Amino acid sequence: MPSTDLATGLFIDGEFVDAGKAGRFDVHDPATGEVIASVADGEVTDALLAVDAAAAAAAAWAATAPRERSRILLRAFDLTTERAEELARLISRENGKAMPDARAEVAYAAEFFRWYGEEAVRALGSLATAPGGTNKIMVTHRPVGVCVLVTPWNFPAAMATRKIGPALAAGCTVVLKPASETPLTALAMAEILTEAGVPAGVVNVVTSRRSGAVVSAMLHDPRVRKLSFTGSTEIGRVLLHEAADNVVNTSMELGGNAPFLVFADADLDAAVDGAMIAKMRNGGSACTAANRFHVEAPVAEEFTRRLAARMAELRLGPGTDEASQVGPLVNEDTVAKVGELVEGAVAAGARVVTGGGRPDRAGCYYEPTVLADVSPDARILREEIFGPVAPIVVFETEAEAVEAANDTEYGLVAYVYTGDLARGLRVGEALEFGMIGLNRGLVSDPAAPFGGVKQSGIGREGGHEGLMDYLESKYVAVRW
Ligand code: NAP
Repeated sequence: MPSTDLATGLFIDGEFVDAGKAGRFDVHDPATGEVIASVADGEVTDALLAVDAAAAAAAAWAATAPRERSRILLRAFDLTTERAEELARLISRENGKAMPDARAEVAYAAEFFRWYGEEAVRALGSLATAPGGTNKIMVTHRPVGVCVLVTPWNFPAAMATRKIGPALAAGCTVVLKPASETPLTALAMAEILTEAGVPAGVVNVVTSRRSGAVVSAMLHDPRVRKLSFTGSTEIGRVLLHEAADNVVNTSMELGGNAPFLVFADADLDAAVDGAMIAKMRNGGSACTAANRFHVEAPVAEEFTRRLAARMAELRLGPGTDEASQVGPLVNEDTVAKVGELVEGAVAAGARVVTGGGRPDRAGCYYEPTVLADVSPDARILREEIFGPVAPIVVFETEAEAVEAANDTEYGLVAYVYTGDLARGLRVGEALEFGMIGLNRGLVSDPAAPFGGVKQSGIGREGGHEGLMDYLESKYVAVRW
């Protein structure tokens, strides 16, 4: 997609329009710092215009035949797939991720349109006879209504389609507020949805650098009935407070701190392959990223050696360069935070097996890093790293591994590698996480319920559960 063709206005009521008085903000390529585009900087008044459009379109969209909503979503799947390469390039430019990751994201993003195109016709209700026998209990599902969707920069396409797909399938209308690091992909998705036949007002996109004010205003508009947020736990907490004022229905996909457990009976080749995916998908900038490796003592040295060898082989470079396997981090603040976590761990006794600093090149890069002998109290084990760093700690017993894995306020995903299926299932049951990768380093799947427990979130995206998150049950007590 040449930069001259990029849509850069707010997308309201089916049209790209300029923001109110506030003007525009720049979008940068994190590999070079170059300005790629300047995008409309939406204000509160713009966001409320978007809510007007979504509210005006809501009744007609909710009344559209499910088969018709399905057809539009399946068309959006086809269009996204046809444009996969240009979308991947756009993602890579504004987000920095390497092209293989960007291509994988587009395929993943498109699948949410396909899955929810298929699910749109399956919002089944139920009918039962009341236990007392006097009446029937009839349950149907109604769209929640106007939804505000707030997405992060790390998967700018997939986090948007993971919300838009089920919302549209359920018959809801939406206002999407994408991350200000990556607004261009969201605008490109709005174009695709329009071309697929989504009527004006059903999907609106408000790009803005005033996220707090814009989202707060929408959450305090009584026409808004749902917030679906993906981002940090810190901002999630703020938005839960905001949503409480009007008792807005919330789905929260928040931060993670995934433990990756390797037992001595695991197939070590498979464990290292899985570790590379769980750690390095998206250059480590994923909520599902393995944040800490807990390895049983007899295989700890061998696992560390093999993982470090694989990490050291990775080629860093601009995401859009086909030779790159790891792109830059999204901005300088992220590089600084990753550096601080590594330095803190090293100061507390960790040993750098590979990497450990910024490479000798311009741009927001950090070397793929493996740390051994990490102190159990190190900050790097408690905070989301969101970069290419793998800290390793050693355990002696299964109980110790489970206790260490659960010692976090997060509960998104955990990975377990073992050759003993009974142990895998037992440990999986004991782990306080919403998702478990059992001998598997990748859990994300549009057909599966993605989401966390504890402070990693509320609700599920994907699978049939994802559709139900955009529906309210309506019960009719009926006698005939
Ligand atoms: P973030 O800082 O929480 O931002 C997420 C979104 O919230 C962005 O659109 C941001 O807009 C907006 N925002 C920021 N402050 C806000 C406020 N006061 N009110 C309303 N909206 C506000 O997260 P991020 O750095 O973009 O993304 C990384 C985080 O997302 C990580 O913690 C990661 O684990 C999490 N994540 C979770 C999942 C999951 O499924 N559980 C998936 C992906 C990422 P601006 O960009 O304009 O600030």
